[in-house]
Amino acid sequence: MADRYQQFTRTPIGRFLVPKLGLPDPPRLRRHHPGLPPLDGPVLLGAAPGGRLEKVVRTRLADAGIEVADGDARYGALVFDATGITDPKQLRQLYHFFHPVIRKVGPSGRVVVLGTPPELSEGRERIAQRALEGFVRSVGKELRRGATAQLVYVAPGAEDAAESTMRFLLSAKSAFVDGQVIRVGAHGIPETAAPENWDKPLDGKVALVTGAARGIGAAIAEVFARDGAHVIALDIPARGAELSEVANKIAGSALQLDITEPDAPGRLADHLTQRHGGVDIVVHNAGITRDRTLGNLTEDNWDAVLTVNLAAPLAVNDKLLADQVLRDNGRIIGVSSIAGIAGNVGQTNYAASKAGVVGMVQDGAAKLGEYGRHYTINAVAPGFIETKMTAQVPVFIREAGRRLSSLAQGGLPVDVAETIAWYANPASGAVNGNVVRVCGQALLGA
Ligand code: NAD
Repeated sequence: MADRYQQFTRTPIGRFLVPKLGLPDPPRLRRHHPGLPPLDGPVLLGAAPGGRLEKVVRTRLADAGIEVADGDARYGALVFDATGITDPKQLRQLYHFFHPVIRKVGPSGRVVVLGTPPELSEGRERIAQRALEGFVRSVGKELRRGATAQLVYVAPGAEDAAESTMRFLLSAKSAFVDGQVIRVGAHGIPETAAPENWDKPLDGKVALVTGAARGIGAAIAEVFARDGAHVIALDIPARGAELSEVANKIAGSALQLDITEPDAPGRLADHLTQRHGGVDIVVHNAGITRDRTLGNLTEDNWDAVLTVNLAAPLAVNDKLLADQVLRDNGRIIGVSSIAGIAGNVGQTNYAASKAGVVGMVQDGAAKLGEYGRHYTINAVAPGFIETKMTAQVPVFIREAGRRLSSLAQGGLPVDVAETIAWYANPASGAVNGNVVRVCGQALLGA
């Protein structure tokens, strides 16, 4: 969907008027293209004394072919290991590292702060580590030109399990993820093997994507296929033609099924077992809206939204887990929404269903171990993404949705897809129980 205002800001008259009138100036975001270096410039790496991550991060950056800077330059990223901070007084280390260099972060640059999950520390250390969140969220709001900031809490012992997360954040794949707090190893630290080829991390994997005929689902299917997976693209029979187009384009399979049918979980389990010998990655992307304020909302529209967005994913999970259709090192990935975090006028049904998806992740992360295999469950919470769904939104609300964020624009379906692909990566086994917003640091619910 065209963002006409953003196009206008790039015309000669727009370039003249936007700064004069103090209008929002959405930056051009750098996105991933095969062959392009992950960052546009070297990384400056720093650490508070006693940090436990700097050394391993330095090695991993070298493995990933990312240059670490030693001089004064324009930086592709600033990475600071704050795990050595055990007392609020030491938070000053953040100031000392970032103050001289923050203006040297280049366009679409990255700031990543590494910490210890506060809930796994105590006393002064817990307080100091919690303080990192306010710092990083503010840095995200101050950065300009498409640069972003994130905080990664790495549990003690999970130092080697953060590689997929660092590769994702220190790349153009995380273009629309901003101001987020990510936990690695907070729900246990399984042995995770790095993929043989980081350009094809999903080689040999079978992935199911629901709602894949268009929009975000189609983008997830394409990114998974690019990463080497065989994708089963699922959608309702009424979207059969679009679905076949998506599946053919990526040499995947199309499955026409309404996930709300009572026998859908069983049919899906049979299909996955008989045709593919099981499944490795399940993405619950299918979703609908039926917006009305509560007093005007019909019971049917309440039920329809809660059934597609929440009840159906839960029923599918139960069946695939009970019948062991989901293979070891499997992934379940939900699609929530910032409306589920912040609430929204006219969306009591939708926001309840999407907050329920957050509940599904929290409940599942604590319990999936009971199935005797290693599984993870995470979700994305997209903000304003340019799709047919958001094209229906009235123009005024649409403009507000785009502009009221640090990056001052809507995201693209591929931004959500890249985030989901990071969860799906076989090296993301310690990334469990996260709900990461893909929202350009939208003000809504921030
Ligand atoms: P979309 O309407 O373009 O695509 C959703 C797809 O789900 C459609 O192809 C639809 O046919 C399919 N679907 C609906 N009901 C189904 C059912 N019962 N069985 C099987 N398939 C079904 O929407 P989108 O914008 O691509 O959104 C994808 C997901 O992202 C949804 O869960 C949505 O709630 C969420 N989301 C979108 C945005 C956004 O800005 N676009 C923001 C936050 C969250």
